Amino acid sequence: MEQTTVKYSISQQIPITLHADVIVIGGGPGGLGAAVAAARNGADTLLIERYGFLGGMATAGEVSPFMANNLNGQSLDRPIYAEWLDAMHKYLPNCNGSMVPVVGSYKHLMVNKDIAMLGAEDLCLASGVKLAYHHTLFDVIVEAGKISTVILMSKSGLTAAKAKIFIDCTGDADLAAKAGCEIEYGNDDGHCQPMTLCFKLAGVDKNRMTDRNILNELYDSGKAAGEINCPRENVLWFDTLEDDVIHFNTTRIAMKSAINGLELSEAEIEGRRQLREYLTFLRKYAPGFEHTRIHSIASHIGLRESRRVRGIKYIGVEAFEQTQKFADAIAKVTYSIDIHNPKGSGTTIKQMPAGKWYEIPYGCIVAKDITNLLVGGRPISVDHALHSSCRVMPPACSIGQAAGTAAAMCLEQQLAPAELDGVMLRKKLKSMGADL
Ligand SMILES: Cc1cc2nc3c(=O)[nH]c(=O)nc-3n(C[C@H](O)[C@H](O)[C@H](O)COP(=O)(O)OP(=O)(O)OC[C@H]3O[C@@H](n4cnc5c(N)ncnc54)[C@H](O)[C@@H]3O)c2cc1C
Repeated sequence: MEQTTVKYSISQQIPITLHADVIVIGGGPGGLGAAVAAARNGADTLLIERYGFLGGMATAGEVSPFMANNLNGQSLDRPIYAEWLDAMHKYLPNCNGSMVPVVGSYKHLMVNKDIAMLGAEDLCLASGVKLAYHHTLFDVIVEAGKISTVILMSKSGLTAAKAKIFIDCTGDADLAAKAGCEIEYGNDDGHCQPMTLCFKLAGVDKNRMTDRNILNELYDSGKAAGEINCPRENVLWFDTLEDDVIHFNTTRIAMKSAINGLELSEAEIEGRRQLREYLTFLRKYAPGFEHTRIHSIASHIGLRESRRVRGIKYIGVEAFEQTQKFADAIAKVTYSIDIHNPKGSGTTIKQMPAGKWYEIPYGCIVAKDITNLLVGGRPISVDHALHSSCRVMPPACSIGQAAGTAAAMCLEQQLAPAELDGVMLRKKLKSMGADL
């Protein structure tokens, strides 16, 4: 149907309610790393988040576990990601010490949205980050190639916020897109990885659960019988910290756009439709699930991919294949290429050989079209395939950490991000405890 339009313009004086040296928009793993790093390095830092809590996909999307981005059994993501794990750990009963040294198994990286939320806020408050929850980025004012002001929408209506440096950690590059930056979207065909509505089931008798293969055979039969309709090729589940709870990352909603409001709405409905079928199927056929009940459902459909911002540097999947290294590396990544088929069934996984890693250079987080904009988290200047590797939460946090540190260094040295020496940034990150 042809889209009709209506003319509408806003011209109004709005109050400038928020000021900072550095404004980070988006409080997911990337925004957490960015805001804490900027504040710790002396910048007056404001973190703006559309929801009333931090954590991004770890909380709103109920994503778990944190994928291991390890080298020789040790997490590569330090210090802020490791501190986030420790902050979460404090909320668990009978847990002394750190989760960080024992990262070899996923068991130790299982999180739940509540401890992720609390731990992230603890780190921000302890670092002096100012928080503005319930504020959504609405628009941006660009003057002479720089963002001067962001316009926010909240229950108060429209308000403005000003800073010297901005960091886009919205996951979807909302800020960069509104500022007019060159953007990439999805793969060469313009399709993104599918969405997933995550959920957890309680009341599971884990001792009676079948192995994954048998569950997948049951799933295939259920699909063949028309009892379950989901394009995913198998049932993806993870153990959790609770005795009788299993986490499912198994619904699949393909060919919907994360940056189209109505498609997002449709995706939520489709995700819950699939969830209802999974619940019925598991209760009926899967040993151990006979008396299961819903434990929790993500409050936001899980978004793996949408826009990426073109930076002053761009790297592709060859960085993974050739384990490329850079003098101005800001993060090291071992996590696999992990592409859930944008069109439906199938997942492409390519693992990094043991003991190897690739690096992300500083230029991938410096927006090329706006002089005071850095990018943290997943929407950085890499191609679709490489994004599938560096998007997971531990490196997303480290990428944010580098953006926040760079912002503080730029303020101190009175430089634009593109003028900052990435080698000096790497040194600074190492001095903070980063594994670089
Ligand atoms: C279904 C699914 C399963 C996954 N599985 C795993 C896994 O098992 N392990 C793993 O490590 N990673 C996994 N990932 C990847 C990981 O969760 C994300 O890539 C990661 O969270 C990206 O971090 P981020 O901070 O860049 O973005 P996000 O986590 O998306 O955070 C973005 C933040 O910005 C806020 N925001 C967005 N737009 C605006 C706006 N306009 N104004 C204000 N605030 C805004 C959001 O509310 C959110 O808090 C998965 C992702 C999905 C979707």
